[in-house]
Amino acid sequence: MAEWLRWPVVRQLTGTDPLGRGPAARSRRTDELRARTEDADAVVRSVCPYCAVGCGQRVFARDGAVTQIEGDPDSPISRGRLCPKGSASRELVTSALRQTKIRYRRPHGTGWEDLDLDTALDMIADRVLATRAATWQDADADGRPLRRTMGIASLGGATLDNEENYLMKKLYTALGAIQVENQARI
Ligand code: SF4
Repeated sequence: MAEWLRWPVVRQLTGTDPLGRGPAARSRRTDELRARTEDADAVVRSVCPYCAVGCGQRVFARDGAVTQIEGDPDSPISRGRLCPKGSASRELVTSALRQTKIRYRRPHGTGWEDLDLDTALDMIADRVLATRAATWQDADADGRPLRRTMGIASLGGATLDNEENYLMKKLYTALGAIQVENQARI
């Protein structure tokens, strides 16, 4: 087709759209647009991990890799909507800037260093045990049992799921820590 035949006014005067409110007004670029989810071979439902609203998401994947994340119209919470953070959450999985190593900056250090997992876990365990021992309160001034530490607190993020929060509460309660909070309640 000659290029001038694609002009909107020509299509409006010669085609089936004399009022120019349908196909006559569509550009070639619009005709060529494809949904970003079109080539996905799987879609699973999830929940946005960024905040306490808990908007429903549909995660689209191809060959096992996440290709797009959209709002879930079936979610009674968000009814298909996502805020800019939730709309960009594909980057949470796929970004080249995502940290995949344990980074540590020691006291008075001026730079970050990488730690292996076993070393990092040992360091955390050593600190927890030392803090618990140093701040343990067995009873109050009148002898009433306390059996707690006020030296350890936890503030969880909304990216933690139910199961993780359950395990964290078990752990901190077993340690005697009573200051256990979550961003989702703030
Ligand atoms: S999409 Fe936005 S409002 Fe919804 S849960 Fe994610 S961060 Fe919160």
